[in-house]
Amino acid sequence: MRRLILSDIHSNWDALQAVLQDAAGLYDEILCCGDLVGYNACPRDVIGWAMSAVAHVVRGNHDRVCAFIEEPTDFNHYALEAARWTNAQLDARQLAWLRSLPVGPLVLEGFELVHGSPYDEDEYVVERREAGEIAQALHTRLCFFGHTHLQGGWVWADGAMLELRRPRFGESETVYELDPQAQWLVNPGSVGQPRDRDPRAAYALWDVERRTVALRRVEYRVEEAQKRILDAGLPEHLAMRLAFGR
Ligand code: ZN
Repeated sequence: MRRLILSDIHSNWDALQAVLQDAAGLYDEILCCGDLVGYNACPRDVIGWAMSAVAHVVRGNHDRVCAFIEEPTDFNHYALEAARWTNAQLDARQLAWLRSLPVGPLVLEGFELVHGSPYDEDEYVVERREAGEIAQALHTRLCFFGHTHLQGGWVWADGAMLELRRPRFGESETVYELDPQAQWLVNPGSVGQPRDRDPRAAYALWDVERRTVALRRVEYRVEEAQKRILDAGLPEHLAMRLAFGR
């Protein structure tokens, strides 16, 4: 079994297409750590695709707000405007599906999916200290998370905690061998709105039998995604940030 791990797609159809093309033939199943929608301009396409293509997904904070499950308390006005616009784009069936997404942690066979952390889908796990604090709440030795839009993560092995390095510019992947005794916390990065200063779409591939996880990046047509945002009348800021990966 080989799994494609996606997170924070955020309605970016162009980035998603580039990822699916880049990973074609390399996976059997798709997992998603949430935030399918928000920010970008293709919520209908992304939800339509996800409803049939994704095997397991947890909801993200933007999924919750775009589905009108709850009024946000911590959204900036760009995010809020995009969320309201997104809700109006989705049909009843798509909204019902979005509302039905499970809240993480979603514990599956030998691994789990969360959006923010196992404690809180809205928690940002950015610092080493924060990762250390959630380690004891993990149910399995391999946890995939998102929400920060920062590709990477940590591994605990032999009493040490190591940081996972994302591909540098000019590299398309970094590959890690999964020591079954170690504890892994892996962020595949954001497909649709990376914030680690690398505008390329981010994702991960997990080969269960070979026990490897690859953090990967692929270029996509950022100008197309930007044009769609502007054509939809969404805030220009949401288009601009894609070019800088922040
Ligand atoms: Zn997100």
